Amino acid sequence: MTIAIYPGSFDPIHNGHIEIVRRASLLFDEVYWAAYDRPLKNVLFTEQERLDFMRQAARDLPKVQVRSYHGLTVLFARQVGATAIVRGLRATHDFEIEYQMALTNHQQAPEIDTVCLMTGAQYAFLSSSILKEVALANGNISEMVPPYVATKLQTRIAQLGEDRGEKVKLVSLQE
Ligand code: ADP
Repeated sequence: MTIAIYPGSFDPIHNGHIEIVRRASLLFDEVYWAAYDRPLKNVLFTEQERLDFMRQAARDLPKVQVRSYHGLTVLFARQVGATAIVRGLRATHDFEIEYQMALTNHQQAPEIDTVCLMTGAQYAFLSSSILKEVALANGNISEMVPPYVATKLQTRIAQLGEDRGEKVKLVSLQE
């Protein structure tokens, strides 16, 4: 039985993530789709909210189980008996980071390998950060996320007060 984990912050999930977890579930017998409970990034959604989105997205994926974890990713992978860490690759800058993480994780846990899946071409531009930026600027996010994420994201952004600049960095689309 082959078990994999698919870890990330998923703040929030978007269609690029959902495509990767769906494809991973075709390759492995069991996939633990796992959110870091306290990412270093300044998150917009709580751990429970991020997990709820993931559970909804995985409803029609019987081989996928949603979890949260803290600490080293390889330790979580060991706990659940996984031999693979699935990551999604967009452009070349993802490769640099993933390469370093994969080698470090392999040094820490030689029995666990990293499996990188190329992004679905239609999602190659998409990240949680760019999604939040578009939502903050009242752009159209309907093709980036499922409707239940879109609604919550728009509500959360509307509720942001003075610290909106802390929570959602405007780096690419304005100025
Ligand atoms: P993001 O990079 O969207 O802010 P995460 O850090 O939570 O989200 O990413 C978790 C995993 O999903 C990483 O392996 C990341 O490379 C992958 N991923 C993110 N966006 C995409 C995408 N558009 N297509 C494929 N994989 C992606």
